[in-house]
Amino acid sequence: MTVTQAPAVPGAAAGLPPASPALQPLHQPVPQAAEPDVSIVVPMFNEVDNLVNLVERIGAAMAATAWQFELIAVDDGSTDGTAALLRQLAQAKPWLQAVCLARNYGQSSALQAGFDRVRGRYVVTLDADLQNEPLDIPALLQRLEDDAEVDMVSGWRVNRQDKALSRRLPSLLANRLISRATGVQLHDYGCALKAYRRPIIDRIRLFGELHRFIPSLARDAGARIAEVPVRHHARTHGQSKYGIDRTFRVILDLVLIVFFMRYRQRPLHAFGGLGLWLLAPGLGILGYLLVVKLGGQDIGGRPLLITGVLLLLIGVQLIVAGLVGEMLTRIYHEGSGRPQYHLRHAAGLAAPAASAGSAPVAPAAAAAPPGSAAG
Ligand code: UDP
Ligand code: MG
Repeated sequence: MTVTQAPAVPGAAAGLPPASPALQPLHQPVPQAAEPDVSIVVPMFNEVDNLVNLVERIGAAMAATAWQFELIAVDDGSTDGTAALLRQLAQAKPWLQAVCLARNYGQSSALQAGFDRVRGRYVVTLDADLQNEPLDIPALLQRLEDDAEVDMVSGWRVNRQDKALSRRLPSLLANRLISRATGVQLHDYGCALKAYRRPIIDRIRLFGELHRFIPSLARDAGARIAEVPVRHHARTHGQSKYGIDRTFRVILDLVLIVFFMRYRQRPLHAFGGLGLWLLAPGLGILGYLLVVKLGGQDIGGRPLLITGVLLLLIGVQLIVAGLVGEMLTRIYHEGSGRPQYHLRHAAGLAAPAASAGSAPVAPAAAAAPPGSAAG
Protein backbone atom coordinates (compact mmCIF):
# COMPACT_ATOMS: atom_id res chain seq x y z
CA MET A 1 0.00 0.00 0.00
CA THR A 2 1.42 3.41 -0.87
CA VAL A 3 1.03 6.34 1.41
CA THR A 4 0.92 9.76 -0.24
CA GLN A 5 2.94 12.32 1.69
CA ALA A 6 1.08 15.61 2.03
CA PRO A 7 3.12 18.61 0.86
CA ALA A 8 4.59 20.56 3.78
CA VAL A 9 3.26 23.84 2.36
CA PRO A 10 -0.34 23.72 1.08
CA GLY A 11 -0.40 24.15 -2.66
CA ALA A 12 3.39 23.76 -3.05
CA ALA A 13 3.15 20.42 -4.87
CA ALA A 14 0.75 21.88 -7.42
CA GLY A 15 3.11 24.80 -8.05
CA LEU A 16 0.68 27.25 -6.48
CA PRO A 17 1.95 30.39 -4.74
CA PRO A 18 1.98 30.19 -0.93
CA ALA A 19 -1.35 30.96 0.71
CA SER A 20 -2.01 34.63 1.36
CA PRO A 21 -2.27 35.68 5.01
CA ALA A 22 -6.05 35.76 4.59
CA LEU A 23 -6.01 32.03 3.84
CA GLN A 24 -3.86 31.03 6.79
CA PRO A 25 -5.65 28.89 9.41
CA LEU A 26 -7.83 31.22 11.44
CA HIS A 27 -7.38 29.58 14.81
CA GLN A 28 -4.34 29.52 17.02
CA PRO A 29 -2.59 26.15 17.19
CA VAL A 30 -3.62 24.09 20.19
CA PRO A 31 -1.10 24.72 23.00
CA GLN A 32 1.13 21.71 23.51
CA ALA A 33 0.94 21.94 27.31
CA ALA A 34 -0.26 18.97 29.34
CA GLU A 35 -3.93 18.15 28.96
CA PRO A 36 -6.08 20.42 31.11
CA ASP A 37 -8.75 19.10 33.47
CA VAL A 38 -11.32 21.58 32.23
CA SER A 39 -12.04 23.07 28.80
CA ILE A 40 -14.15 26.21 28.90
CA VAL A 41 -15.86 27.05 25.61
CA VAL A 42 -17.20 30.55 24.97
CA PRO A 43 -18.82 31.54 21.66
CA MET A 44 -18.70 35.25 20.87
CA PHE A 45 -20.12 37.50 18.21
CA ASN A 46 -19.38 41.23 18.44
CA GLU A 47 -18.45 41.19 22.12
CA VAL A 48 -15.32 43.35 21.94
CA ASP A 49 -16.30 45.47 24.95
CA ASN A 50 -16.82 42.42 27.14
CA LEU A 51 -13.77 40.44 26.10
CA VAL A 52 -11.00 41.69 28.39
CA ASN A 53 -13.24 41.51 31.43
CA LEU A 54 -14.50 38.06 30.45
CA VAL A 55 -11.02 36.57 30.05
CA GLU A 56 -9.80 38.16 33.29
CA ARG A 57 -12.79 36.98 35.29
CA ILE A 58 -12.70 33.43 33.97
CA GLY A 59 -8.95 33.34 34.63
CA ALA A 60 -9.47 34.59 38.20
CA ALA A 61 -12.32 32.17 38.90
CA MET A 62 -10.29 29.17 37.73
CA ALA A 63 -7.00 30.31 39.31
CA ALA A 64 -8.71 29.94 42.69
CA THR A 65 -9.21 26.22 42.03
CA ALA A 66 -6.86 23.26 41.67
CA TRP A 67 -8.14 22.41 38.18
CA GLN A 68 -5.89 23.01 35.19
CA PHE A 69 -7.98 24.71 32.52
CA GLU A 70 -8.00 26.02 28.98
CA LEU A 71 -10.33 28.70 27.63
CA ILE A 72 -11.41 28.10 24.03
CA ALA A 73 -12.83 31.42 22.84
CA VAL A 74 -14.60 31.08 19.50
CA ASP A 75 -15.05 34.26 17.52
CA ASP A 76 -18.11 33.74 15.35
CA GLY A 77 -17.22 36.12 12.51
CA SER A 78 -17.39 39.32 14.56
CA THR A 79 -17.13 42.64 12.73
CA ASP A 80 -16.22 44.80 15.72
CA GLY A 81 -12.60 43.77 16.28
CA THR A 82 -13.33 40.90 18.69
CA ALA A 83 -11.08 38.52 16.71
CA ALA A 84 -8.06 40.85 16.69
CA LEU A 85 -8.35 41.53 20.41
CA LEU A 86 -8.80 37.84 21.10
CA ARG A 87 -5.61 36.93 19.25
CA GLN A 88 -3.75 39.66 21.10
CA LEU A 89 -4.96 38.37 24.47
CA ALA A 90 -4.08 34.79 23.48
CA GLN A 91 -0.45 35.82 22.93
CA ALA A 92 -0.14 36.67 26.61
CA LYS A 93 -2.16 33.84 28.13
CA PRO A 94 -1.06 30.27 27.39
CA TRP A 95 -4.41 28.91 28.59
CA LEU A 96 -6.38 31.00 26.08
CA GLN A 97 -6.96 29.54 22.64
CA ALA A 98 -8.47 31.84 20.01
CA VAL A 99 -10.58 30.11 17.38
CA CYS A 100 -11.73 32.50 14.67
CA LEU A 101 -14.47 31.33 12.31
CA ALA A 102 -14.46 32.54 8.70
CA ARG A 103 -17.88 34.17 9.01
CA ASN A 104 -20.85 34.35 11.33
CA TYR A 105 -22.23 30.79 11.52
CA GLY A 106 -24.41 31.20 14.60
CA GLN A 107 -24.07 30.29 18.25
CA SER A 108 -24.51 26.52 17.77
CA SER A 109 -21.77 26.20 15.18
CA ALA A 110 -19.47 28.42 17.24
CA LEU A 111 -20.03 26.16 20.24
CA GLN A 112 -19.39 23.09 18.09
CA ALA A 113 -16.13 24.62 16.82
CA GLY A 114 -15.10 24.88 20.46
CA PHE A 115 -16.31 21.35 21.30
CA ASP A 116 -14.23 19.99 18.41
CA ARG A 117 -11.10 21.28 20.16
CA VAL A 118 -11.69 20.47 23.83
CA ARG A 119 -9.10 18.38 25.64
CA GLY A 120 -10.25 18.43 29.26
CA ARG A 121 -12.22 15.71 31.02
CA TYR A 122 -14.80 18.36 31.94
CA VAL A 123 -16.27 20.88 29.53
CA VAL A 124 -17.89 24.15 30.61
CA THR A 125 -19.84 26.57 28.42
CA LEU A 126 -20.92 30.13 29.09
CA ASP A 127 -21.82 33.26 27.16
CA ALA A 128 -19.30 35.98 26.38
CA ASP A 129 -21.52 38.88 27.42
CA LEU A 130 -20.87 38.36 31.15
CA GLN A 131 -24.54 37.73 31.84
CA ASN A 132 -23.29 34.44 33.32
CA GLU A 133 -21.07 34.72 36.39
CA PRO A 134 -17.64 33.10 35.88
CA LEU A 135 -17.37 32.64 39.67
CA ASP A 136 -20.17 30.04 39.41
CA ILE A 137 -18.02 27.74 37.24
CA PRO A 138 -16.20 26.02 40.14
CA ALA A 139 -19.51 25.11 41.83
CA LEU A 140 -20.74 23.39 38.67
CA LEU A 141 -17.47 21.50 38.34
CA GLN A 142 -17.51 20.54 42.00
CA ARG A 143 -20.92 18.95 41.50
CA LEU A 144 -19.51 16.79 38.70
CA GLU A 145 -16.50 15.93 40.80
CA ASP A 146 -18.55 14.98 43.87
CA ASP A 147 -21.57 13.32 42.31
CA ALA A 148 -20.79 10.30 40.14
CA GLU A 149 -24.50 10.07 39.34
CA VAL A 150 -24.44 13.33 37.37
CA ASP A 151 -22.92 13.76 33.89
CA MET A 152 -24.12 17.27 33.15
CA VAL A 153 -24.86 20.25 35.38
CA SER A 154 -27.14 22.89 33.93
CA GLY A 155 -27.31 26.44 35.31
CA TRP A 156 -30.67 27.79 36.50
CA ARG A 157 -30.89 31.58 36.42
CA VAL A 158 -33.07 32.05 39.48
CA ASN A 159 -32.82 35.86 39.37
CA ARG A 160 -32.81 36.35 35.66
CA GLN A 161 -31.91 39.91 34.62
CA ASP A 162 -33.70 40.18 31.28
CA LYS A 163 -36.86 42.00 30.19
CA ALA A 164 -39.97 40.36 31.63
CA LEU A 165 -42.32 40.46 28.67
CA SER A 166 -40.04 39.94 25.69
CA ARG A 167 -37.57 37.51 27.29
CA ARG A 168 -38.63 35.96 30.60
CA LEU A 169 -42.24 35.13 29.74
CA PRO A 170 -41.48 33.44 26.36
CA SER A 171 -38.62 31.63 28.07
CA LEU A 172 -40.91 30.39 30.87
CA LEU A 173 -43.39 29.02 28.33
CA ALA A 174 -40.57 27.51 26.25
CA ASN A 175 -39.09 25.79 29.32
CA ARG A 176 -42.45 24.22 30.19
CA LEU A 177 -43.12 23.18 26.59
CA ILE A 178 -39.66 21.72 25.98
CA SER A 179 -39.66 19.91 29.35
CA ARG A 180 -43.02 18.36 28.60
CA ALA A 181 -42.25 17.46 24.99
CA THR A 182 -38.82 15.97 25.60
CA GLY A 183 -39.37 14.57 29.10
CA VAL A 184 -36.21 16.35 30.32
CA GLN A 185 -37.56 18.49 33.17
CA LEU A 186 -35.51 21.67 33.57
CA HIS A 187 -36.45 25.12 34.85
CA ASP A 188 -34.04 26.89 32.54
CA TYR A 189 -33.15 25.52 29.13
CA GLY A 190 -31.73 28.85 27.99
CA CYS A 191 -28.93 29.22 30.53
CA ALA A 192 -25.63 28.96 28.66
CA LEU A 193 -23.66 28.19 31.83
CA LYS A 194 -23.35 24.42 31.90
CA ALA A 195 -20.75 21.81 32.77
CA TYR A 196 -20.39 18.34 31.25
CA ARG A 197 -18.34 15.24 31.47
CA ARG A 198 -16.37 15.12 28.25
CA PRO A 199 -17.91 11.94 26.70
CA ILE A 200 -21.29 13.71 26.60
CA ILE A 201 -19.81 16.51 24.52
CA ASP A 202 -18.12 13.99 22.22
CA ARG A 203 -21.48 12.33 21.59
CA ILE A 204 -23.53 15.36 20.59
CA ARG A 205 -23.26 17.51 17.50
CA LEU A 206 -24.85 20.93 17.23
CA PHE A 207 -26.39 22.08 13.98
CA GLY A 208 -28.68 25.01 13.18
CA GLU A 209 -29.77 26.58 16.47
CA LEU A 210 -29.82 23.44 18.56
CA HIS A 211 -27.75 25.02 21.35
CA ARG A 212 -31.08 25.70 23.07
CA PHE A 213 -31.75 21.96 23.24
CA ILE A 214 -28.40 20.73 24.51
CA PRO A 215 -29.97 19.17 27.65
CA SER A 216 -32.33 17.13 25.46
CA LEU A 217 -29.46 16.09 23.18
CA ALA A 218 -27.34 15.24 26.20
CA ARG A 219 -30.14 13.18 27.75
CA ASP A 220 -30.49 11.40 24.42
CA ALA A 221 -26.75 10.69 24.62
CA GLY A 222 -27.25 9.07 28.03
CA ALA A 223 -26.45 12.00 30.34
CA ARG A 224 -27.91 12.23 33.82
CA ILE A 225 -28.62 15.90 34.38
CA ALA A 226 -28.70 18.09 37.50
CA GLU A 227 -29.76 21.70 37.69
CA VAL A 228 -27.91 24.16 39.92
CA PRO A 229 -29.00 27.77 40.64
CA VAL A 230 -26.57 30.32 39.25
CA ARG A 231 -26.34 34.08 39.19
CA HIS A 232 -27.34 36.18 36.22
CA HIS A 233 -26.45 39.77 35.35
CA ALA A 234 -27.95 42.29 32.97
CA ARG A 235 -25.97 42.91 29.80
CA THR A 236 -23.78 45.99 30.30
CA HIS A 237 -22.01 46.08 26.91
CA GLY A 238 -23.09 45.06 23.43
CA GLN A 239 -26.50 43.87 22.32
CA SER A 240 -28.44 40.64 22.41
CA LYS A 241 -28.27 38.84 19.08
CA TYR A 242 -31.80 37.49 19.30
CA GLY A 243 -35.30 38.95 19.18
CA ILE A 244 -38.80 37.60 19.72
CA ASP A 245 -38.67 36.03 16.22
CA ARG A 246 -36.67 33.17 17.72
CA THR A 247 -39.98 31.80 19.10
CA PHE A 248 -40.97 30.30 15.75
CA ARG A 249 -37.59 28.75 15.22
CA VAL A 250 -37.71 27.24 18.71
CA ILE A 251 -41.07 25.60 17.92
CA LEU A 252 -39.71 24.08 14.69
CA ASP A 253 -36.55 22.91 16.45
CA LEU A 254 -38.71 21.34 19.14
CA VAL A 255 -40.46 19.26 16.47
CA LEU A 256 -37.03 18.17 15.25
CA ILE A 257 -35.79 17.27 18.74
CA VAL A 258 -38.92 15.33 19.67
CA PHE A 259 -38.69 13.43 16.37
CA PHE A 260 -35.03 12.73 16.97
CA MET A 261 -35.47 11.61 20.56
CA ARG A 262 -38.45 9.36 19.88
CA TYR A 263 -38.17 8.17 16.30
CA ARG A 264 -34.60 8.54 15.05
CA GLN A 265 -34.10 4.77 15.32
CA ARG A 266 -37.55 3.91 13.96
CA PRO A 267 -38.79 6.52 11.47
CA LEU A 268 -41.27 4.03 10.00
CA HIS A 269 -43.23 4.17 13.25
CA ALA A 270 -43.56 7.96 12.98
CA PHE A 271 -44.32 8.31 9.28
CA GLY A 272 -45.92 4.90 8.83
CA GLY A 273 -48.09 5.36 11.92
CA LEU A 274 -49.54 8.55 10.53
CA GLY A 275 -49.77 6.91 7.11
CA LEU A 276 -51.82 4.02 8.50
CA TRP A 277 -54.22 6.43 10.21
CA LEU A 278 -54.91 8.02 6.80
CA LEU A 279 -54.76 4.85 4.74
CA ALA A 280 -57.30 2.93 6.82
CA PRO A 281 -60.22 5.42 6.49
CA GLY A 282 -59.22 5.95 2.82
CA LEU A 283 -59.59 2.23 2.15
CA GLY A 284 -62.86 2.18 4.10
CA ILE A 285 -64.29 5.02 2.05
CA LEU A 286 -63.23 3.47 -1.27
CA GLY A 287 -64.61 0.08 -0.22
CA TYR A 288 -67.93 1.68 0.65
CA LEU A 289 -68.01 3.53 -2.70
CA LEU A 290 -67.22 0.27 -4.50
CA VAL A 291 -70.26 -1.34 -2.90
CA VAL A 292 -72.38 1.68 -3.88
CA LYS A 293 -71.06 1.50 -7.44
CA LEU A 294 -71.75 -2.24 -7.65
CA GLY A 295 -75.25 -1.42 -6.42
CA GLY A 296 -75.71 0.53 -9.63
CA GLN A 297 -75.32 4.11 -8.37
CA ASP A 298 -73.02 6.67 -9.97
CA ILE A 299 -70.11 7.72 -7.67
CA GLY A 300 -68.12 9.89 -10.15
CA GLY A 301 -69.33 13.23 -8.75
CA ARG A 302 -69.19 12.41 -5.07
CA PRO A 303 -66.76 14.44 -2.88
CA LEU A 304 -66.22 11.27 -0.85
CA LEU A 305 -64.42 9.73 -3.83
CA ILE A 306 -61.72 12.39 -3.96
CA THR A 307 -61.42 12.23 -0.14
CA GLY A 308 -60.88 8.47 -0.24
CA VAL A 309 -58.32 8.69 -3.06
CA LEU A 310 -56.41 11.48 -1.28
CA LEU A 311 -56.31 9.60 2.03
CA LEU A 312 -55.08 6.47 0.27
CA LEU A 313 -52.36 8.28 -1.69
CA ILE A 314 -51.08 10.34 1.25
CA GLY A 315 -51.13 7.29 3.50
CA VAL A 316 -49.07 5.25 1.05
CA GLN A 317 -46.66 8.17 0.54
CA LEU A 318 -46.10 8.49 4.28
CA ILE A 319 -45.42 4.78 4.70
CA VAL A 320 -42.92 4.94 1.82
CA ALA A 321 -41.27 7.99 3.45
CA GLY A 322 -40.96 5.92 6.66
CA LEU A 323 -39.32 3.07 4.75
CA VAL A 324 -36.85 5.47 3.13
CA GLY A 325 -36.15 6.84 6.62
CA GLU A 326 -35.42 3.30 7.86
CA MET A 327 -32.91 2.85 5.06
CA LEU A 328 -31.23 6.17 5.90
CA THR A 329 -31.00 5.14 9.55
CA ARG A 330 -29.30 1.93 8.57
CA ILE A 331 -26.92 3.70 6.17
CA TYR A 332 -26.06 6.19 8.93
CA HIS A 333 -25.22 3.53 11.48
CA GLU A 334 -23.93 0.67 9.35
CA GLY A 335 -22.15 2.83 6.78
CA SER A 336 -20.22 4.77 9.42
CA GLY A 337 -19.79 1.98 11.94
CA ARG A 338 -21.56 4.08 14.62
CA PRO A 339 -23.52 1.86 16.99
CA GLN A 340 -27.04 3.02 17.86
CA TYR A 341 -26.25 2.89 21.59
CA HIS A 342 -23.79 4.39 24.05
CA LEU A 343 -22.20 2.55 26.96
CA ARG A 344 -22.61 3.91 30.49
CA HIS A 345 -19.06 3.07 31.48
CA ALA A 346 -17.47 4.91 28.57
CA ALA A 347 -14.22 6.60 29.56
CA GLY A 348 -15.09 9.44 31.90
CA LEU A 349 -18.64 8.33 32.71
CA ALA A 350 -19.13 6.51 35.97
CA ALA A 351 -20.75 3.07 35.91
CA PRO A 352 -24.29 3.06 37.34
CA ALA A 353 -24.69 2.54 41.06
CA ALA A 354 -26.46 -0.68 42.00
CA SER A 355 -29.72 1.15 42.75
CA ALA A 356 -29.63 3.69 39.94
CA GLY A 357 -31.46 3.16 36.72
CA SER A 358 -31.84 6.12 34.46
CA ALA A 359 -31.46 8.86 37.02
CA PRO A 360 -33.97 11.70 36.79
CA VAL A 361 -33.01 15.35 36.70
CA ALA A 362 -31.95 16.30 40.20
CA PRO A 363 -34.70 18.15 42.05
CA ALA A 364 -34.08 21.85 42.48
CA ALA A 365 -34.26 21.44 46.24
CA ALA A 366 -31.10 19.36 46.14
CA ALA A 367 -29.14 22.15 44.53
CA ALA A 368 -26.99 24.71 46.27
CA PRO A 369 -28.55 28.12 46.95
CA PRO A 370 -27.49 30.96 44.67
CA GLY A 371 -24.52 32.83 45.90
CA SER A 372 -23.00 29.81 47.56
CA ALA A 373 -21.37 29.06 44.26
CA ALA A 374 -18.45 31.47 44.52
CA GLY A 375 -15.16 29.66 44.16
N1 UDP B 1 -23.33 34.43 19.73
C1 UDP B 1 -22.53 33.85 18.77
N2 UDP B 1 -22.96 33.85 17.47
C2 UDP B 1 -24.16 34.40 17.10
C3 UDP B 1 -24.99 34.95 18.10
C4 UDP B 1 -24.54 34.95 19.40
O1 UDP B 1 -21.44 33.36 19.07
O2 UDP B 1 -24.49 34.37 15.90
C5 UDP B 1 -22.87 34.45 21.14
C6 UDP B 1 -22.93 35.81 21.81
O3 UDP B 1 -21.78 36.58 21.55
C7 UDP B 1 -23.04 35.42 23.28
C8 UDP B 1 -23.89 34.15 23.22
O4 UDP B 1 -23.76 33.63 21.89
O5 UDP B 1 -21.78 35.11 23.81
C9 UDP B 1 -25.35 34.40 23.54
O6 UDP B 1 -25.84 35.46 22.73
P1 UDP B 1 -26.77 36.63 23.33
O7 UDP B 1 -26.18 37.15 24.59
O8 UDP B 1 -27.01 37.62 22.23
O9 UDP B 1 -28.12 35.84 23.63
P2 UDP B 1 -29.17 36.13 24.78
O10 UDP B 1 -28.41 36.12 26.09
O11 UDP B 1 -29.73 37.49 24.49
O12 UDP B 1 -30.15 35.03 24.67
MG1 MG C 1 -26.80 37.23 26.64
